[in-house]
Amino acid sequence: MSKTEDVRNVDRDPLDSSAQVPSEIPAGLDRRKFIMRSAVISAAAVMNGCTRSETERTAPPPAAAAAPDSARVQGLAPKPAVPLAPDLNVVKKGSGPVLTTVDEFYKVGPGPSSSHTIGPMRITYDFYQQATKLPADKLAKATKLQVNLFGSLSATGKGHGTERAALAGLVGKEPATVDPKFLDSLRDQPDQVFPVKLGTKSIDVSLKDVIYDATKGDFKHPNTMTVKLLAGNDVLLEQEYYSVGGGFIEWKGYTPPKKNPPKYPFRLMKELRAHADSNKTTIAKIMLANEMSIAGRSEEEVYAFIDKIINAMVATVKSGLAMPEDDVLPGPIKLHSKAASVYKRAMDDKYQADRGIGSLSAFALAASEENGRGHLVITAPTGGSAGVMPSLVYGLLEVRKVDRQKVRDGMLAAAAIGYLCKHHATLSAAEGGCQAEIGVASAMAAALTATAYDASSLVVENAAESALEHHLGMTCDPVAGYVQVPCIERCAFGAVKAWTAYAIASNEIASRHRVGFDETVTALAETAKDMNAKYKETSEAGLAQSVTLC
Ligand code: SF4
Repeated sequence: MSKTEDVRNVDRDPLDSSAQVPSEIPAGLDRRKFIMRSAVISAAAVMNGCTRSETERTAPPPAAAAAPDSARVQGLAPKPAVPLAPDLNVVKKGSGPVLTTVDEFYKVGPGPSSSHTIGPMRITYDFYQQATKLPADKLAKATKLQVNLFGSLSATGKGHGTERAALAGLVGKEPATVDPKFLDSLRDQPDQVFPVKLGTKSIDVSLKDVIYDATKGDFKHPNTMTVKLLAGNDVLLEQEYYSVGGGFIEWKGYTPPKKNPPKYPFRLMKELRAHADSNKTTIAKIMLANEMSIAGRSEEEVYAFIDKIINAMVATVKSGLAMPEDDVLPGPIKLHSKAASVYKRAMDDKYQADRGIGSLSAFALAASEENGRGHLVITAPTGGSAGVMPSLVYGLLEVRKVDRQKVRDGMLAAAAIGYLCKHHATLSAAEGGCQAEIGVASAMAAALTATAYDASSLVVENAAESALEHHLGMTCDPVAGYVQVPCIERCAFGAVKAWTAYAIASNEIASRHRVGFDETVTALAETAKDMNAKYKETSEAGLAQSVTLC
């Protein structure tokens, strides 16, 4: 018996008769006999101090038990209303070990949506780079650059400013370094024309070259777009791209970059935790070792990148809090900023009892409102959820004064949570609704907090599980297609739920936590598969339909 199993048995409550009695009535027994027999077994078990074995307690129902673990997890890959083509990496990814690295995962870029702004900007920037490599004689014939947006990118792109992000990438701007004022200027002066230099040729581009195309169709991914370089009607270069969530992009014929094997390969949380426990270390240290081996980086390089992300998160909260109380966010909702007001009240001694939740909410609102303004945010895991992790990072570092190294460790543990959700489910609201954004962000923030407070690997898992579990089924229905309502307040709730999940996980007896993180990720994938397409970032249902703008 492993040490973990041993600990679980010691901590089990022998008086919990519910643990002794199967709830299903076996075939061939009538209900009365079944209840009587269960009561006798239960009483005997309590008197003898016996409990069911670990194997019995944790045995899945027969149908699930029949399937091998890998089949169960892989079989539950999300199948949204727009079925995903089986050759997409986001579909195939669940089979091997997790190979994502922090620099791929935490991305700085303009809000309000990683899949609708950062992804499209990365896509057009990539196309621009490809186009510059064409032979000079081809480039000499070029007359036009054209971007076509499909599916959810077309349905809600206008509210997200997708056309501005796509144009910015086309004129050579990268998400991490673009000045948000450039994007604001595109909004305020939409007729601007920019020359794009390709070899000796200069091609004029404007927002008119970004076309909102079909919202429904047989796309390989709900966030599909094409980019073309044309010579009159002739296509010189064309690429079909997919913005697959969290700012990750793929294209037709995409093969993931070759990476080094991880030092501690894992596909599931239970495997990751087993590495941590058997090596008598933490999830964060296992993740650090993997980052170093997969990306070939030194410890200093990994931490330097994480510090950049931590600093960007702190900066986004600070700039959000510094905005005037009556600031109005861009777009037709005319939503008034509330971060500064909520923070002011939280710091008022009259309301001291509410200070913890009030300030945590204010930090999340601040970062999320910055996202709504289209300013720089950090995908953790997405733009829509960009208030959740910064709220906890800011609270831990700037308010609780937790040691920076512990917050760095927390960022690694949070990344592990995000990687697992990406690997087996989705980070894209167009595939899985808001549970895939705010739900995952909240789970990451719970793992961050538990790690920063030196919790055991089991408590880290339990905290993340709890936060994710209580977001399952949450739909994506942004009003008017703008990442503001319900998104901004939802970030505050995600942050508070993360803290609640940590509070529960660090106070309960960890081994009695009944639901494993892997099981909840499976439920996330299943729910994503079954969710009605109207609730997947299309603005066709929910609040997007019931709220009337006047
Ligand atoms: S409702 Fe949730 S998933 Fe949808 S845009 Fe808003 S934050 Fe993102």
